[in-house]
Amino acid sequence: MELIDLHVHTTASDGTTTPEQAVQMAADRGLRAIAITDHDTASGVPSAVRQGKRLGVEVVPGIEISADYKGAEVHILGYFIDPDSPALEPVLQWVIADRDTRNERIVKRLAGDGYPVSMRRLRAENPDAVIGRPHIAEQLVKLGQAGSVREAFDRYLAEGRPYFIPRSYLPLAAAVDVIIKAGGKAVAAHPLQYGFNGRELEAFIKAAAGFGAVGLETYYSGYSQEECAVLAALAEKYSLVRTGGSDYHGTRKPHIQLGSGDGSLRVGYELLRKLEIYAKTVEIAEIIG
Ligand code: AMP
Ligand code: FE
Ligand code: FE
Ligand code: ZN
Repeated sequence: MELIDLHVHTTASDGTTTPEQAVQMAADRGLRAIAITDHDTASGVPSAVRQGKRLGVEVVPGIEISADYKGAEVHILGYFIDPDSPALEPVLQWVIADRDTRNERIVKRLAGDGYPVSMRRLRAENPDAVIGRPHIAEQLVKLGQAGSVREAFDRYLAEGRPYFIPRSYLPLAAAVDVIIKAGGKAVAAHPLQYGFNGRELEAFIKAAAGFGAVGLETYYSGYSQEECAVLAALAEKYSLVRTGGSDYHGTRKPHIQLGSGDGSLRVGYELLRKLEIYAKTVEIAEIIG
């Protein structure tokens, strides 16, 4: 089976490998295709696409947008987007401005309590990145205030912890819509990460499909065969294409490897072709009416 990875973060958001390095790594591992899916930015896509052409790896231009669904933060993946789409730009600018305000507030609160973190250092160490809590967590690790990024979240930055400050999210419908307007195919990401019960899970998938999502991330690092089977059945029920990816973040999620996730992940190339072909069929059906 030719393997792919449709969920990869780079230094454009909170991954630690550059877009070029991620594609090189995919080539070294024999992956046929990867999608670059950074949080709230597609700025890593062009250099990854160029590297893919050099190395013979198909690079799918992608993005992962955070959204609000009934008060929960959910993630929507966009595939085959135009990274320079005029539809995308103002939306991402709004998201990044909101993130900047929030990052500054978190850093100020930490600094006020004596933790020597600063926006200047965050920006200097992550020059091209959409900065978020993982970068702040990493600073706390470097300062010896936590043993790992995860521990920094658990002690300081996770919801309910003293340095958590909420940010604003696009409504689910708007996140799906902007992906479609940017020429992309929207896919509901890692559906078991939201703490939904069975009924809520299905309602979320149904809502995403209703807003125009055409896929469901069925295969994901850490999901058991049984869990994947449940998701595959839901994908079938709502006529969604199954997709899969590792959510590789480099050393910020050290237990996840590109392509193989936690070791057992295997995503076949045919799913990518189904996503492209099926999504085209839906488009044509809509045009015909
Ligand atoms: P932000 O978008 O800045 O709020 O940061 C959210 C990102 O931080 C998520 O996409 C995850 O990659 C990471 N994250 C969230 N919660 C945790 C946690 N408890 N441990 C480690 N990473 C986390
Ligand atoms: Fe992340
Ligand atoms: Fe995510
Ligand atoms: Zn992700």
